Parts: sequence; structure tokens; C-alpha cells
Amino acid sequence: MRFFDTHIHLTDFKNTNLSELILRLKSADIDKCVCVSSSPDDWEKVAKAAHDFAFDIIPAFGIHPWYIKQTHLNWQHDLEEYLKKFSDAPIGECGFDTLKNTDIKAQKEIFNIQLEFSKLYHRPLLLHAVKADEILQNYQAVLPENTIFHSFSGSLERARQLTKFGFYFAINTRFFQKKEANRILQTIAPDRLLIETDAPYQSAPEDLPYLIQRIAEVLQKDIQETSEMIYLNAERLFLSD
Ligand SMILES: [Zn+2]
Repeated sequence: MRFFDTHIHLTDFKNTNLSELILRLKSADIDKCVCVSSSPDDWEKVAKAAHDFAFDIIPAFGIHPWYIKQTHLNWQHDLEEYLKKFSDAPIGECGFDTLKNTDIKAQKEIFNIQLEFSKLYHRPLLLHAVKADEILQNYQAVLPENTIFHSFSGSLERARQLTKFGFYFAINTRFFQKKEANRILQTIAPDRLLIETDAPYQSAPEDLPYLIQRIAEVLQKDIQETSEMIYLNAERLFLSD
């Protein structure tokens, strides 16, 4: 099996260097990954990682809703420069979180600029959405189709709505803590399903075989077939050219 981890924070692992980390990913059968960033402080580190391990790492540049205050005056210009430099780079992670940050106006301002860039440069948008259903109701019609709901945690009803727009859903092992998990998984179109670790936060690189096994059980598919299908979904989305 080979895995495409669509959401990992490689720059946030403590006490390990990048070469060691890449070896760890390889031994966990992670063939490629999207290394997300959370604030402008991460961008140069993510760019360097993607430069040093170009075959393995797709860099993503964005501002996480928890860190919207960690922006500097020229952040829009800098973000645009990184997007120009890395022609495959998606934008993220970005989005809304009203649980940790109640300043919705500020979150919208930062998000809107990232949304504009995703359209202008035709880049996937890696979306963090926590307690943000109401806000996203107003955005869903204008989000690009290649929007990825990272660590999807919405309801079955919400999954049904979002599916109609053709969005992607990236899930990690936490997804199965939800009561409706199996039904949500059956609702997502097979070609819109992605996996992620969100390591070092929500799960570990070594958890992916278990995640695939759970998904395969619910979809009543062969494990190999399931992992390859999901790998190819990510490949199509992130490495289209
Ligand atoms: Zn994350």
C-alpha cells in the first residue's frame, strides 16, 4: 500500500529533523504528503522542506484561523510570492474556528484574501472549519470545487449538502469517534475522499493502515483497492499538471 497524507504539519514535530521525519513517513508507507502551514512564521520553513524533499512534499501556504494575529504588513505579498514560486502549492490551512476565536470579522478578512488567491491561481483550498457551519453556509456557493474540508467533523446533513458542491473531505482516525461516521462516509463520493494524519496533532503517520482498514470496511471494498483509490484522488487533486 502507499498513502498520500493530505494534511501534516512537518514543521511542528519536536526533537526530530526533517530527514528523520521523511524516513519515518516512508516506513509508514506515506509516499507523498501535503505539508501545511499555520502562519507566515512557517512559510519559509515549509518552502525549504519542499525544496529539499521536492519529490515527497507538496508545500501549502496559508493562515490558520487561530493565528490571524500573527500576520505582518506584507503577508499578502509574501503569500503570493510563495504561490508563484511553488506552482503546485495549495492554500492552507485556512478557514474558520468560532470555538477558539470569536473575532469572525477578522477571520473573514484573512480568509477572503486566501480565497481570492485560490481562485486567481487555481489552487486547492485546505479548509479548517470548527463550529463554522453558519459562516460557511454563506461561502459554500463561492468556494472553489477543489476545496478540502480537512478533518471533517460536520453532521450527516452537512456532509450531504457539501457533497452537492463537489468538495473534498479529508478524514483522519478521529473521524470514527463520531456516531454518524459510517453513514457520512457512505455519503461522500468515492472520488472526493482523502486521508490525512494532521500529525503531530490529531493522529500519527503510523495510524494510516488502521484508517484505511476502517474505511474499506465501511465501503465494503478491498483494502488495497481502497488505499489506491484514495491515493489517486489526492494525486489528481494536488499533482494535476
Ligand atoms: Zn492542521
